[in-house]
Amino acid sequence: MRTTVIIGGGAAGMISAVFAAGKGNKAILIEKNEKLGKKIYITGKGRCNLTNDCTEEEFISNVVSNPKFLLSAVKSFPPQKTCDFFESNGLKLKTERGNRVFPFSDKASDVTKTLADAMRERGVDVCLEETVKKIVCRDGKVSCVMTDKREICCDSVIICTGGVSYPSTGSTGDGYLFAASCGHAIVPPRAALSGIETVENYKELQGLSLKNVRISVLDGKKEIFSEIGEMLFTHYGVSGPLILSVSSLINRRDQRNIRLFLDLKPGLSEDQLRNRILRDFAELKGKKVYHSLVKLLPSRLIGAILKRAEIDEKKRNAEFSSEDMKKLLTALKKFEIRIRKLRPIEEAVVTAGGVSVKEINPKTMESKLINGLFFAGEVLDLDAFTGGFNLQIAFMTGYIAGTNA
Ligand SMILES: Cc1cc2nc3c(=O)[nH]c(=O)nc-3n(C[C@H](O)[C@H](O)[C@H](O)COP(=O)(O)OP(=O)(O)OC[C@H]3O[C@@H](n4cnc5c(N)ncnc54)[C@H](O)[C@@H]3O)c2cc1C
Repeated sequence: MRTTVIIGGGAAGMISAVFAAGKGNKAILIEKNEKLGKKIYITGKGRCNLTNDCTEEEFISNVVSNPKFLLSAVKSFPPQKTCDFFESNGLKLKTERGNRVFPFSDKASDVTKTLADAMRERGVDVCLEETVKKIVCRDGKVSCVMTDKREICCDSVIICTGGVSYPSTGSTGDGYLFAASCGHAIVPPRAALSGIETVENYKELQGLSLKNVRISVLDGKKEIFSEIGEMLFTHYGVSGPLILSVSSLINRRDQRNIRLFLDLKPGLSEDQLRNRILRDFAELKGKKVYHSLVKLLPSRLIGAILKRAEIDEKKRNAEFSSEDMKKLLTALKKFEIRIRKLRPIEEAVVTAGGVSVKEINPKTMESKLINGLFFAGEVLDLDAFTGGFNLQIAFMTGYIAGTNA
């Protein structure tokens, strides 16, 4: 009988254990928390967007770090297989906007329950409140795992300890230390899917969410991102879906060269917007410029736009010059948001960086350095945009590591 120790009872660890067990193989899952899947409980605002019902190509295009490494993984465990796995284990699913897949019950806890039940059926030995301290290797091969309670001799180990984001859920970077002690290179962890702190203070706009705006990002002179969607002003700067995507794209770059522009009216060309403003001004003759913009903008935003355009709030429509119009159009179509830094990694939705995939076999998730050492999930230098792609990475790498361990 072969014994596999799985370190970590998150999404990657639980699915690894399901596929490592059975057929005469013993699987022991060690989790330091008092319960399984602590991070899963908070995913998708408690509803868990567990995968994305998309094609293999679409999946790869949503992976930010090392998409090519996942080319064979997505063939053996595409999103459809994640759905089949959960449905055949009794979890009813539903697909929402953007192909996001959720449990029909809207309860993230049902995802953990399904994985826990599948582990029980396969006879996985689940050990809670036990912390792995060390992996011992001999002659280029895994030999045993030391925990705070005992030593477990084993044939293989799967490290599924996650990244360093939301450490209160248990992901505190232990896997990086285990991997490094086995000779693996660690790509420095960075915040991904994170809010952005800004040079300007947007406190007066805190909580204001904007829909259908365009964010464009320049690295030097090159545009690296331009999309329409939603964003949010916060006490520290900006966040929301578009900003989370931007953070994942810029976290590896020199942020001093990055410029971020907001187009508040992406559906209108500059000429169309000018005509629209002039029409509103004509309808509200004699009023202040401030009041003439209420149909165009959320009222909380008008002050910030006029300030950026250096137009006195008390100015009347009659005094509005063509120079003012020029400045107003720039403020509306090219509102620069200056980046100070990303929010701390502990607050990021995912950790980019981690165990370098250069030393991992993409077909098996086994280390190229140590026989019997496998990796799955966020501990690896893999991360993706929002939409269920990060959990899909955890499930697909977990399935592959489990079946090969
Ligand atoms: C707020 C939030 C919302 C999210 N929403 C979504 C979403 O809707 N869809 C999506 O696709 N992704 C989402 N993500 C990302 C996704 O949750 C993670 O990428 C995924 O859960 C990572 O799974 P994992 O198993 O690799 O790591 P983790 O879930 O972090 O699990 C690692 C486990 O290892 C355990 N562990 C660590 N060290 C040790 C040790 N030494 N000994 C024993 N056990 C140890 C930890 O306690 C933990 O339980 C979200 C993340 C956050 C923070």
